[in-house]
Amino acid sequence: MLCIDARATPTAAGEWLDALRELTDKPVEYLVLTHYHAVRVLGASAFGAQRIVAHARTREWIHERGAQDFESEARRFPRLFRDVDSIPGLTYPDVAFADTLTLALGEREVQLRFLGGGHTLGDTCVWLPAERVLFSGDLVEAGAAPYMGDAAMEEWSTSTLDRLEALGAETLVPGRGPALRGADEVATGIAETRAYLRTLWTAVRDAREDGGSLLDAFGGAREALEPRFGEWRIFEHCLPFNVARAWDEAEGLPPQVWTAERDAAVWDALQR
Ligand SMILES: [Zn+2]
Repeated sequence: MLCIDARATPTAAGEWLDALRELTDKPVEYLVLTHYHAVRVLGASAFGAQRIVAHARTREWIHERGAQDFESEARRFPRLFRDVDSIPGLTYPDVAFADTLTLALGEREVQLRFLGGGHTLGDTCVWLPAERVLFSGDLVEAGAAPYMGDAAMEEWSTSTLDRLEALGAETLVPGRGPALRGADEVATGIAETRAYLRTLWTAVRDAREDGGSLLDAFGGAREALEPRFGEWRIFEHCLPFNVARAWDEAEGLPPQVWTAERDAAVWDALQR
């Protein structure tokens, strides 16, 4: 078994495929999509996997909003979309699960676990119980801002991360940043991600309760986050979308579809 947690854009997928072929010429049997975001899904076709596996909500969201996410991500991250015309399109999962799916790969057991709402409403963690290795997808980041534009942030920052922590991983491969090795590094990575989420969520809720605008919430969140997290990768990129989503969640709204127009409107409103 080989686990790759790549940003599976066309460019990255090509590089990962080259690395994979240096290790083995065996076919790829299962490819797991940790969630629906285009920067994860678009490169999947490069691996020629026999089965594409994802949580049921992720499968639903790729169908429902995958094309719009492709368009908005291509605008947000043009550097990841070299040669955009070569992308064969979205890859759709053909195996979906709701809670846990166990794959028996010879002697090795691989569990795909849904731990609750988080980075999206359908995140998959890949858990190897014997090896105590966890691939968290974007539920945990290391030295990079978590993207919360489609998040269930109250749930993510409480019960979902609690369940993730309770697995007791000794190695954790985050969505971004280096692998965390040993219980201390794993605990720190989870705690830092949680601290970012709680800081942003609290700042936005406070601004709303004080009668402030979205722009006030953005300023409050930046002020609260910058001293501790300002140097994290993609800090600036994520902030407007994270604040916009926190605002919506505080209003009781589910994650909205990010059309290119909504994307541009939020960016324009908050980048002054
Ligand atoms: Zn993501």
